[in-house]
Amino acid sequence: MPRPIFGLVFLAASVSFGACTAAEFKIGVAIEDITPPIGMRVGGNYVSPVSKGVHDPLLAKAIVFQQGETRAAIVVCDLTGVSLDISNQAREAASKATGIPVANIIVSATHTHGAPQYTGPIRDLEHAKEIAAHGRDSGEPIDYTAHVAERCAKAIERANADAKPARLDAGIADQPGLAFNRRFHMKNGFVRFNPGKKNPEIVKVAGPVDTALPILLVRDPEGKPRASFVSFAMHVATYGGLDWGADFPAHLQTGLREKLGPDFVSIFGEGTAGDINHIDVSNDAPQLSTVEPQRIGGAITETMLKAIPTLKPVENPTLAARSAKVNLPIAKVTEEQIARATDVYLRKVSATPDFYLLVESSRALQARDRRKRFGDFEPAEVQAIRLGNDTAIVSLPHEVFVELGMSIKQASPFKNTIVLSLAEDGGFYVPTRKAFAEGSYEVTTCPLEPGCGEALVATAVKLLNGLRP
Ligand SMILES: [Zn+2]
Repeated sequence: MPRPIFGLVFLAASVSFGACTAAEFKIGVAIEDITPPIGMRVGGNYVSPVSKGVHDPLLAKAIVFQQGETRAAIVVCDLTGVSLDISNQAREAASKATGIPVANIIVSATHTHGAPQYTGPIRDLEHAKEIAAHGRDSGEPIDYTAHVAERCAKAIERANADAKPARLDAGIADQPGLAFNRRFHMKNGFVRFNPGKKNPEIVKVAGPVDTALPILLVRDPEGKPRASFVSFAMHVATYGGLDWGADFPAHLQTGLREKLGPDFVSIFGEGTAGDINHIDVSNDAPQLSTVEPQRIGGAITETMLKAIPTLKPVENPTLAARSAKVNLPIAKVTEEQIARATDVYLRKVSATPDFYLLVESSRALQARDRRKRFGDFEPAEVQAIRLGNDTAIVSLPHEVFVELGMSIKQASPFKNTIVLSLAEDGGFYVPTRKAFAEGSYEVTTCPLEPGCGEALVATAVKLLNGLRP
């Protein structure tokens, strides 16, 4: 097979050299509700049950940074992922309303699994099935893509209007004990994801964890905390059930509000958590989805509250943002693979298909859809926002392996580098080259060619170096 070529295309850049002007730094935050209607299908697990209620409201939380003429915005949604349609529509609408350049706007998701199935090939098949049978799809009572895009734009618009003089503190806390690499070398020579607690076939773990909890704390000029922005490399998939749920970030919000005030806005973004979850296989204590969100949200709250007094003001706040696209080769799939994958989801192959058959079929349909949309290469967007000499945020699409995020941090010229995944698009995992060779679940989901992860890292590092003060 010929080696895929990764083409790097710099698209848009909006850079300010504010060091000599040192205009006042302003920050605004806002929250919009994106809770879907009850009765809409729940996503995230290769099946399509219907939601029954609301455990937590799903929210879109926005933060806008402003210095002189330069502005940048991030909005994080309580969704398993945002589709490219949501982010495109939201960024355009937000840019139109506020004047913030599209390239300076990041739309991402927490990855909660208590969220709807509104996009992707499995949704498309379910939707078509409902329309064919009933003339309408009761599992999709509203155009949720348009709804979320509109609410994200609104959140950015409101955060922009809310921008007021702010002090920005930053630092990196350590959060041990919560996150576990979920890929293991097994006695049979294979690598397996989530092999189960106390599995005697486990030889050793196949990858690292990143216990870093980077924290941005926004204070008013008098020092009162107003908002926080954190990312952590662990799957937000500890909540389960058929009621809409925001998982542990909702408990983090509650915990921080108890101590920092009822108006405090806690924004959580998922770090590079592709191969990381909360399951500790070293013991057989149950980890119930009814208990874990609160336990984990509580632990992160405690770590943050302990870390807040140790945070340092961001050095020489100078706002700048950049965006680049990197062309990632999409895998080829045959007509036979596509036909079989469709049959699998229409339950023509088996009434109860095996998990890996569902995953493999989803990948084939993803590859087909992405080729239809983009051709041979997916133009993946990487974005970076510099907040000061020592602090920057960088975002990547999809669910990226932890090793890749750690390489970005290691190579970054910024001491506090906050890496966000699931930005602008999210439909599958982005493994390392090493993991592609090892196989297992995450690799089976990925419709891109090996090397996609390393190409994202190279692009991210290039952007960060370009923002070096
Ligand atoms: Zn995931």
